[in-house]
Amino acid sequence: MQKIQNYINGELIAPLDNTYIDNYEPATGKVYSQIPNSKEEDVELAVKAAEAAFGEWSTCGIAERSRILLKISSLLKENLEEFAKAESIDNGKPVWLATQVDIPRASSNFHFFATAIEHFASESHYMEEVKAINFTTRKPIGVVGCISPWNLPLYLFSWKIAPALAAGNCVIAKPSEVTPMTSYLLSKICIEAGLPKGVLNIVHGLGQHAGSAIVAHPKVKAISFTGGTGTGKAIASVAAPMFKKLSLELGGKNPNIIFDDADLEKALSESMRISFANQGQICLCGSRMFVQKGIYETFKKRFVKMIDELKVGDPNNSDSKMGALVSKPHIEKVQQYIDLAKEEGGTILTGGTTVNVGGRCEEGYFLRPTIIEGLDYMCRTNQEEIFGPVITLTPFEDEEDLLKMANSVEYGLAATIFTQDIDRAHRVADQIEAGIVWVNTWLLRDLRTPFGGVKNSGVGREGGFEALKFFTEQKNICIKY
Ligand code: NAD
Repeated sequence: MQKIQNYINGELIAPLDNTYIDNYEPATGKVYSQIPNSKEEDVELAVKAAEAAFGEWSTCGIAERSRILLKISSLLKENLEEFAKAESIDNGKPVWLATQVDIPRASSNFHFFATAIEHFASESHYMEEVKAINFTTRKPIGVVGCISPWNLPLYLFSWKIAPALAAGNCVIAKPSEVTPMTSYLLSKICIEAGLPKGVLNIVHGLGQHAGSAIVAHPKVKAISFTGGTGTGKAIASVAAPMFKKLSLELGGKNPNIIFDDADLEKALSESMRISFANQGQICLCGSRMFVQKGIYETFKKRFVKMIDELKVGDPNNSDSKMGALVSKPHIEKVQQYIDLAKEEGGTILTGGTTVNVGGRCEEGYFLRPTIIEGLDYMCRTNQEEIFGPVITLTPFEDEEDLLKMANSVEYGLAATIFTQDIDRAHRVADQIEAGIVWVNTWLLRDLRTPFGGVKNSGVGREGGFEALKFFTEQKNICIKY
């Protein structure tokens, strides 16, 4: 059985106490590899390596850092097939999805930040009346921690690591213990690309051991975290009293809003992705669909039919629109929410059951895409994050009615609006409580734009220069002449 290794001080090594955790393939329900169950002492080793590497990495020059990150980006592209397959085995997503989205975007993240750092300028402020000039330098923080979730494993991992490294920091990173494989493959690519030892250290393991050791380590000066809101809260409670810089990208319960005047065909096909892409396990998926009363019945009928026909199957098959959910505990959690929805008075319009897709996937974690109608907008099913292929469908009267329901949740990550009325698009986008709003599209990403949520969906922004700002410390120098 394949054993994943930690990547510390430029080498692939076993965890110090030599203990491992089983890693399951969600499509088959079988253990297929093992990952280090790293502890505090492994994190300590990684921090020592990072500290030792920081001096040289932070001063080697932007061009050199950029060169190495570009090399990593192109090696990811060259190894697309191997990475996409590994991501699919680990996560349960269709291979075609990892090939088209996850891995190319991970490669783009390295490319983007390798070049963004060359254009990252600092500010100066001239005080004409007193003849003084302020200039503000931005320097890397030092050793930083990056912790990521399982839904878009390499994509989100690289979204943190790339800007941290580009800015000149040394990194202790932990991927999710549920999907460690592509970050392990990335460590091999970093060696091949000539990344100096200790600059990036990847420590595998559980949140309560390896993760919390990274967060609590006094030498780790900033934490960039993506994951659940509860975990974010626990991390903040440790990191905030230590005055660490914190970026928290957390949960969501996003509204997908369809007005009477929407382009129906576009709203239908985009809503299929918005609701069920990656088995509904994208933080930006819309899990609460609001449809205006005038088109509600027509939309419902057509959408339910479309989803009914959606093929759930072996992630290796190119005609499988949806693959497996990420783990047994996760599918059980999602099923509990379907039971809760029924208790709360909801009607299942389609789905609601597991699927045996047969063959090698007999024991896999497959669930039919599920649409539920008839729930109060304040009930738990409509308020809590499910993070699976389950959406609710709710009619609304007008903008006022819609905004009351859409903004009723504790989260505020993303929203989608379908309308052909430009004034309405602006009005609603302006009043929706979310960090990201898409109108007549979804998941269209310009890497320069700020990414993140409001309310309990997080603190801070990733993306573009926001990420480079997060991973640097400012100093203002005022000179009078
Ligand atoms: P999770 O919070 O359980 O775990 C995320 C990471 O944190 C994992 O690597 C885990 O090992 C680690 N971790 C767990 N406990 C920790 C602790 N006490 N200290 C340090 N690290 C710890 O989340 P998950 O189940 O992997 O991912 C799903 C969640 O992620 C959903 O809530 C989803 O909305 C959210 N998410 C948010 C975004 C975003 O950009 N806002 C993107 C993707 C996923």
